Amino acid sequence: MRCKFSILFFLFFISINSQDSKKITEIFFYDFDIEIPTPAFDKKKGFTKYDEMIAFLDNLKANFPEKISIKYIGKSQKGKEIPMVFLGNQKSPLIKTCFMGGLHGNEPAGTEGMLLLINNLLNVDSIAKILDKVNLAIIPMANIDGYEKQSRYANNGQDLNRDHTKLTNPEMIAIKKAINNFSPDLMVDFHEYKPYRVDFVKFGEYGTTSMFDCMFLYSGNLNVCPLIKQTIESKFIPDATKKLDFYKLKYHNYLSSKHKNNKIYFNLGSVSPRSSATSFALSNCISLLMEVRGVGLKRDSFKRRIFTTYLLANSFLKTAINQSTYIRNEIKNCNAFPEEIVIKYKKEKIPYKLNMIDVYNHKVIPVDILLYSGLNCKKEITRKRPNYYIIHKDLNIVASKLNILGLNIDTLKYDELLNVESYEIISQSKAPQIFQGFHENIVTTKIVNKEITFEKGTYIIPMNQKRSNLAVETLEPEMLSGFLRFNVIQPHEISKIHRYTLNKEL
Ligand SMILES: [Zn+2]
Repeated sequence: MRCKFSILFFLFFISINSQDSKKITEIFFYDFDIEIPTPAFDKKKGFTKYDEMIAFLDNLKANFPEKISIKYIGKSQKGKEIPMVFLGNQKSPLIKTCFMGGLHGNEPAGTEGMLLLINNLLNVDSIAKILDKVNLAIIPMANIDGYEKQSRYANNGQDLNRDHTKLTNPEMIAIKKAINNFSPDLMVDFHEYKPYRVDFVKFGEYGTTSMFDCMFLYSGNLNVCPLIKQTIESKFIPDATKKLDFYKLKYHNYLSSKHKNNKIYFNLGSVSPRSSATSFALSNCISLLMEVRGVGLKRDSFKRRIFTTYLLANSFLKTAINQSTYIRNEIKNCNAFPEEIVIKYKKEKIPYKLNMIDVYNHKVIPVDILLYSGLNCKKEITRKRPNYYIIHKDLNIVASKLNILGLNIDTLKYDELLNVESYEIISQSKAPQIFQGFHENIVTTKIVNKEITFEKGTYIIPMNQKRSNLAVETLEPEMLSGFLRFNVIQPHEISKIHRYTLNKEL
């Protein structure tokens, strides 16, 4: 009975204007009284429209022609040009930072926060000096079609932040190419998260909501260079949390709830290369995704959400500048690749007390949860890291996707007889549910040694390059966001991908 009532209460709750009650906004998320000059604040409702954003950027460019340039990197599915904004001295050897907002179209604080940042770096003297010390690129509205209708998804219904390895959407292809071309030392993707989830109705009196103004999402994937996580935890997060504390903004590492077999559990951190935090980390740059509390809140606490985004972006820029030598060094050290790669891992399971807001009596209460920590994974199956992957020349699709991911691909100059490792499929099935329009291929394989004559023109992927961890995560057949799993290739085609582990240079 209580359960039924609490679900009704919850549905009533989310059917009214915003997902936060007035009282919760007042007590926990009162809005900030600040001027924000983005086009959204010229009107009472809604958010900055695409045309308004372009006019806003063009106006800044007219006023500061020396300091800002705008490049259009590709088109959305509905044909709108995607702008990438460059600030600071693009020719200098300064630390390179790239920010992105609006990859999910219903998370407006990301986009508005990026526009506020661009504006202030040009117009506000106290922070304008940042531009002398950084080379900055910003994609303020990554998913334009989604943003125009405040939908998470691209026009074809796909989630762009699940497309970082399959690369089927024009927006994602354009974004990957542009960011790899820029080659940032620091990449931050700004999002908003949903503070109320159906899973939370079972907590507290009649349900709970998240209390964190923002959450830090970074990768615990075991094929990501561990120095990246270390640098985030020892430099970027401590600096950012000092700023957040100053403004009494609450934070946590990223948690997402999952429902399985009638049980709720929480995932901490990220491991999956299909999404941006891990994908960019695999390309050996410092990579973060910020989740600001906002989805479903319409314009409630909107200035607070935008300010949080802006504050974080500012803090990350300052850390990048102050620690530039350290960061560059750590990124360089990531090029010393390990002997083995991790094929299968297990997340550590931890009982945890999570503080949440009880929506009925407006108090912060501890909730007992089970945490699967993606930031503490244990390896279960490993393989020797190859020196090259060798790919038959008719698998153009694989070569072209690796190219979009920013990998250098060579070809054999002559026909060559080589001792290689090949995959043999032991088990094979399709995932029962549809994900992004397809059923995932699930395989297990064993490695067999073979001697094969490869034709001139065969693709070879040298594994001593900066972004080679992306080849590991896309080419090994068991990988959860790999090309085989995601139907870029079919199981029979895995016989066309080989591993070369000998020390000879090809
Ligand atoms: Zn998002």
